Amino acid sequence: MKAIGKGPALLRLNNQKRVMTQMRKVRVTSRQDLAQTLSLSKNTVSLIIDDFLEQGLIEELGPVSVAAAGRPKIEIALRPQKLPSAGVMVERNFIHWCVCDYFSTIIAEKTLRTDTSQPANLLAELAVLCRELASKYPDLLGIGLGFPGIVDPPGGWMHFSSHLGWQDVDLLTPLRKHVRLPLRIMNNAKAAALLSVQHLGLAAENSHFYLRISEGIGGALVQHGEVYTGSSWTAGEVGHLILQPNGPRCSCGRQGCLETLISQPAIKQQLAQRDPGLTWQNRDSAPRVVNEIMTQAGGFLGKALSQIMLLLNPASIVIDCPWNANPEFCEAVSSVAESSALRFTFQHTQLHFLPTRLDPANGLALAVIEQSEQYVR
Ligand SMILES: [Zn+2]
Repeated sequence: MKAIGKGPALLRLNNQKRVMTQMRKVRVTSRQDLAQTLSLSKNTVSLIIDDFLEQGLIEELGPVSVAAAGRPKIEIALRPQKLPSAGVMVERNFIHWCVCDYFSTIIAEKTLRTDTSQPANLLAELAVLCRELASKYPDLLGIGLGFPGIVDPPGGWMHFSSHLGWQDVDLLTPLRKHVRLPLRIMNNAKAAALLSVQHLGLAAENSHFYLRISEGIGGALVQHGEVYTGSSWTAGEVGHLILQPNGPRCSCGRQGCLETLISQPAIKQQLAQRDPGLTWQNRDSAPRVVNEIMTQAGGFLGKALSQIMLLLNPASIVIDCPWNANPEFCEAVSSVAESSALRFTFQHTQLHFLPTRLDPANGLALAVIEQSEQYVR
C-alpha cells in the first residue's frame, strides 16, 4: 500500500528534477516552453514553478511579446547562486577546492599544500574541510571529492593510486561519519571530463573522449552525459597505454607508458637532460631543442589518439594539457593521429586543443549537480 502513496510524490520529484535540468541547460525559458519541451501539462509545470518561486530558486524576468493571441509568456530563470555545490580535488601533496553556482561559475576557491602520504590523516583533514564548507555555504547541494588513481565511485573506495601511494582505502565511510551532505567520490580526470562536455557545449547524445595531461595522464569517455568507468573502474586510463616498448620505467611498474613520455614530469626531465634550466615555454633561447621535444611528444600523443579513435570512435577528443600552447605539438598530434588511424575515422573525429586548462574541482562540483538531477526510482 505504501508504494501507491509514494507514486505521485516520486513522480512530482522526478518532474522537478527534469525542470531543473532543462532550466540549467537553456538558462532562460517560460512555463509554456517547459511544458512543451518536457511533454508535461501546463498545470504540472506551473505547480513546480510556483513552488520554486516560493523557495527563491528562480525568478521571473518579465513578459515577452507573443504574436499569437493568448496569455503572454513570462520568462523565468534559475538563480544559480541559490544552489551552490563544491568540489575538492586531492593530488599529491595538495588539496584544491572550489565552490560553484548552479551554472558552474566559481564563487570561491583555494589551494592548500598538505602531506598526502597517510590516508587516515588526509581523510580527517578532508572531513574538517567539508564541515567548514557546509557551515559557510548552508545551501550547499553536496560535495564532490576527487582523487588520482583507480576509484570506485558508488563504493567510495580507492583501489590504487600510484601518485598518492595509496592502496585499498575506504574513502567514503570516514567522511560520512562527519559530513551529512550528499558526497560523490570520483577520479579527478573523470570529473574534468564531465566538465569538458559542458564547457565546449558538445552534443550530449554523442560520445566524447577527454584526455588530461598533468603530473600523470588520465582520461574518460563521456557517453550520453555520463562517464563510462568500465567494469573495474579503469576505462580511459590512457596514461598506461604502452607507446615505447623498453621505454622509461612507469609508476605502474611497466615500461614506456604514455605517462612516462609526455606527462609534465617526463617533459621536464627530457628538457633538463638536454639543457639544465630549460623550460618548455622558453622557445626563444633554445627553439630547436624545445620544438624537437614537443614534436616528439605530439607524435606519441597522436599515436595514442589513433588507438582511442579506432577503439571508441568518439565524436570528439578534448585534449587538456600545457603543451597545447606549442603549435609544433598540436601539429604533430594531428598529423600522426591522421596517419595512424583509418582515414574515415579520423575525418569524423573532432580534435579540441583546449587553450586554457579545466579545473577538476569545478568538474567535481558539476558531478554533484548532475547527481542531484538524477531520477529517483
Ligand atoms: Zn604505466
